[in-house]
Amino acid sequence: MALFGAHVSASGGITKTFLRAREIGAEVFQFFLRSPRVWKWKGVNEETKKIFMEKLKEFNAPVVVHAPYLLNLASPKEDLRKKSIEVFLEELRFCDEVGIHYYNFHPGTATGIDEEEGLKKVIKSLEEIFSQYSPKFTTVLLENTAGEKGDIGKNISELGRIIKCFDGVKLGICLDTCHAFAYGYEINTERGFGEFKREIEKTVGFESIKAIHANDSKVPLGARKDRHEHIGRGYIGFEGFRNLLKDEYFSTLPYYLETPKEGNMDIVNLKILRKIYSE
Ligand SMILES: [Zn+2]
Repeated sequence: MALFGAHVSASGGITKTFLRAREIGAEVFQFFLRSPRVWKWKGVNEETKKIFMEKLKEFNAPVVVHAPYLLNLASPKEDLRKKSIEVFLEELRFCDEVGIHYYNFHPGTATGIDEEEGLKKVIKSLEEIFSQYSPKFTTVLLENTAGEKGDIGKNISELGRIIKCFDGVKLGICLDTCHAFAYGYEINTERGFGEFKREIEKTVGFESIKAIHANDSKVPLGARKDRHEHIGRGYIGFEGFRNLLKDEYFSTLPYYLETPKEGNMDIVNLKILRKIYSE
């Protein structure tokens, strides 16, 4: 069964996320532990942690924490890479401790080095992370990227190369539909979607895909830009989401909107996804 939800704000404290999810009728949700563009984190006090854990248990559906955008495990700047590892570990430990299902991150950006070298840095960084901490509950999700300059993890094969290095670690993929389409996967045609599925089958296997970021795209196929649009209003269109939601495997996953926060659009987008799913 598919579950439908969205990214929600955690401003005012992480326990507020449950109410915000309920307000839009979300069955699942994603949030940032800290403001995504700052390094500093006050952390969460014991009382808040306790309340959060109780609410999460009650909620009883997969919740995602999205890593901050600043994080770059592919950086050739050693201080930035180390800082990224530190923040990653801090957040992963927290997620695992309180029982958050998924910790999602963008693999990284190769800046001033070639992408192959960047990919190796991501693997090295993850080795450093998992040698220090191996989560018991939380699954770490690599998100596919739109393939902007230096983006690591723009296609399934690339993500597969990273995943293969970590046997026995809870690692999977969060598929962002906008990024996949902007990179060049024509998921809105039968042929394109078929090819996309075959690549998954040949590389990581369907069971590696754990969650979907459900976003339409403001840019055409292969434009390699990360610009999210409301469901059905972009270049992917309803057909792309129909392919996913009618698929035997993809129709069993949780869907998280990351579409622009405009008025009641989360509610509208969720309604559209559910309609396509139930048709
Ligand atoms: Zn995303």
